[in-house]
Amino acid sequence: MHDAKMNDTPLTARSVIGGTEVSHGGHMLDIVNPATGGPAGTLQEADAAEVAEAVRAARTAFDKTDWPRWSVPRRQALLLAIRDKIVEHADKLAHLECIALGVPLKELKARHMLRAAENFRFFAEYIGQARGDLYDQTPGYRTIVTREPVGVAALIAPWNAPVALASMKLAAALAFGNTCVLKPSEQTPFALHLLVRLLHDAGLPDGVVNLVNGRGDVTGAALAAQDGVDLISFTGGTTTGRTIMAEAGRRLVPCTMELGGKSANIVFASADRDRALDAALASIYSNNGQQCLAGSRIFVERAIADDFISDFVARARSIRIGSPTDDSTELGPLATAAHRDRVLEFARTAPQDGVEILTGGGVPGDLRDDISGGHYIEPIAAFAPGNASVVCQQEIFGPFATFQIFDSYNQVISAANNTEFGLVSYVWSDHLPTVERAVRDLRSGVVWVNTTMTRELRAPFGGFKSSGVGREGGEACERFYTEPKTVTVPSSPITPRRMGLS
Ligand code: NDP
Repeated sequence: MHDAKMNDTPLTARSVIGGTEVSHGGHMLDIVNPATGGPAGTLQEADAAEVAEAVRAARTAFDKTDWPRWSVPRRQALLLAIRDKIVEHADKLAHLECIALGVPLKELKARHMLRAAENFRFFAEYIGQARGDLYDQTPGYRTIVTREPVGVAALIAPWNAPVALASMKLAAALAFGNTCVLKPSEQTPFALHLLVRLLHDAGLPDGVVNLVNGRGDVTGAALAAQDGVDLISFTGGTTTGRTIMAEAGRRLVPCTMELGGKSANIVFASADRDRALDAALASIYSNNGQQCLAGSRIFVERAIADDFISDFVARARSIRIGSPTDDSTELGPLATAAHRDRVLEFARTAPQDGVEILTGGGVPGDLRDDISGGHYIEPIAAFAPGNASVVCQQEIFGPFATFQIFDSYNQVISAANNTEFGLVSYVWSDHLPTVERAVRDLRSGVVWVNTTMTRELRAPFGGFKSSGVGREGGEACERFYTEPKTVTVPSSPITPRRMGLS
């Protein structure tokens, strides 16, 4: 298999099918390093024929090998070996992620790679505790329900946290005995390419995980449409999710959709103000502002609003922008030049909607020469006169915070829920009745109270409304990646109805 070199360019990401790197001479795409604007490497695109080959390899591994029937201890040992490989190679994985994504290396090592390792450990432990069901209420019969792997899973991942998000899908699919074809975003293929190699180094049989790289409307669309695919797990934008789900519906294939967000971060006057301020900054500006669960709509109660917003703006102005490989960097470049331009366009047009840009929205002028071609922007904070503003309704997916001031509980809950999305909400208050009410009234799949992004893998994660369909997490993944099988056995021989004797 091709050895992805750490510091040398060019790197080339190709498909991995049946444990071997394949190259059928597909279209070459350049991958740009967002930190410099220069080349990070290339990707050789898998066309529909190559995708079909990957699905066939996964099909064969599922239908013709003992992989789906591996014992739980054997599967646990493999998942833990994968976890160890990720920990051992965390620096290299983080580096490969960084050169295509631009998120600070420190953040990638400390959060993304640890999270990936944790995903495999979590599912190793989960399957050691999983159980079936027994029904014995019908006299003379015992009915048990076991769970079996579904088959070939198509796993389609976005670019904003490739290894952290795809590893959740891989760990769950493998833990429950499925085989897979993984399609990363065309922008960020390198770290997942190495991860797939590490899975094999850890002892994964050939063909169980296959990798195809390429553009969404070419490689991704071919994968979603393949007949041999039994289920689809997708994380990405809401528009793409609709397209893929329509395809899944046509083929009656189950799918989970982890989609976009426009999350409310509500700061009541009863909040621990300093913690709420730190958390508001972290929940919109970490991961370079490119995260589905960003607290992008910040609602502040009028009594504390002026000071809170001015302190937020002062802190946003002090955020250290720079190369993602510098340990002191807090905000790196946006993933692509087109995405940077899209985010800046929101800032440019927002005043037409009555929105006041409080800070940011420009390109930093004092960048070092070696990174001056990168996709950097100053973090944006804006004051919106109401929740109907474009920047309060559309997912910007960048370091763009909007502020709104509220006077009453009903006003803020109504505005918070007034969005097509419903992924997460944040509530800051030390007044328990207010917290209890808000937790009940907010229409989102997750509510974080007095905390930033705290992922509990045992609990379901996913969105209401256009933020998704289905959930990820321990039991939610077990339900998605397995088929229940109901087996009824009489406790003594039965006397069937006798037909056709006369
Ligand atoms: P996209 O929807 O553009 O892409 C997601 C993945 O789907 C990529 O691999 C993409 O490939 C692929 N794809 C694109 N078009 C098709 C198609 N027609 N058929 C099959 N696959 C396709 O999302 P982004 O990558 O831009 O990711 C950002 C979005 O992801 C945001 O909306 C964000 O909120 C959401 N997200 C949701 C999360 C959640 O848990 N709810 C977590 C993280 C992100 P390619 O990139 O090569 O075009």
